[in-house]
Amino acid sequence: MNEKKYRLLFLSTPVGALGSGVGGGVELTLQNAAKALIAKGHEVEIVAPEGSVTEVTKLTQIAGTMQTSAQTEVGADLVVLPQNSVLENMWSYARASQHQFDLLFNFAYDWLPLYLTPFFQRPIAHWISMSSLSPVMDAMVSKTVRKFPDAIAVNTRACADTFSDGDRLTIMGKGIDLTQYNFVEKPTKPSLAWVGRISPEKGLEDAAEAAQSTGFPLHIFGLIQDQEYWQQIQASFPQAELHYEGFLSTGELQQRLGKSSALLMTPRWVEAFGNAAIEAFACGVPVVSYSSGGLKEIVRHGKTGFLVEMGSVSGLIEAISQLDQIDRSACRQQVEAEYSLTVWGDRLEKWFDKLITNF
Ligand code: UDP
Repeated sequence: MNEKKYRLLFLSTPVGALGSGVGGGVELTLQNAAKALIAKGHEVEIVAPEGSVTEVTKLTQIAGTMQTSAQTEVGADLVVLPQNSVLENMWSYARASQHQFDLLFNFAYDWLPLYLTPFFQRPIAHWISMSSLSPVMDAMVSKTVRKFPDAIAVNTRACADTFSDGDRLTIMGKGIDLTQYNFVEKPTKPSLAWVGRISPEKGLEDAAEAAQSTGFPLHIFGLIQDQEYWQQIQASFPQAELHYEGFLSTGELQQRLGKSSALLMTPRWVEAFGNAAIEAFACGVPVVSYSSGGLKEIVRHGKTGFLVEMGSVSGLIEAISQLDQIDRSACRQQVEAEYSLTVWGDRLEKWFDKLITNF
């Protein structure tokens, strides 16, 4: 174990309260990173928008207007900061309290924290949770990483490769708290699950179509971000047995997910990682996924699930018919070997060692 004990300030996503689901996978990622580092003896404080909840560690809530999610601003060549911005307010808090910490860890996919990197008296580690979506972010990622070579991490090689300076980004992978997920040997009855924000880039319509064709019920878990899109899906596949289960806590989600025959992941964008995939594996649930971004690095075709060409509903249907070829214990084994909090905590700690030593 590392002898040095760091005091770390984590700055959450400014698009929504921690625990609300608006931030997508980054909410779980931040909390798991905190757990992994606390387990190694470090101290973590989380700063997050007002209304946030977490059981992991000390939380400071900051008021202000939320940022717009970057996935709704694809191609943007300008930066938007609302009046009384929560992002601005969180970074004012960070500036005022920076001397109590050894390092600040930013989870916002936003221009401002990157821009602020040289103005702070403490090192800032940046977690870039999505692929390159806009020229304005891409350019600021480049400028920052050229000046601070180890400052920016992403989950996967596939995510890094979408950025102009992708070869300069640190590939950090991911870890989840496996004690929170129970392995389920067999599905209760044939059924499919879909987990994620209900928003066009996540491609729920293809999963609904596959459910309609196969006759499998599809249980949908996640926040409805785009109500019109959700209504449209229900209207387009009237014969599909779709069950909307709401946005659940990790404990409830894993319990329901574990009963499924498979998780369908049908993203229509370059999925930077796909937390839901490793959560499914932890429950012993194989993943039938579009061959997109980070998911190509996660799903082992024919072993822990199937990779299907993006947009190919017939491919999904064929994969669903072959699910009995998958040994569910292989899914759990993969996540234990590659995505445990211990392995990830070691990696995060080494990254911080480097940033703090070289600062
Ligand atoms: N999630 C959840 N409860 C739900 C549905 C989803 O907590 O009912 C979480 C899930 O655990 C995962 C996140 O939502 O961490 C979705 O993340 P993913 O990386 O799959 O996609 P993103 O939303 O980041 O694009």
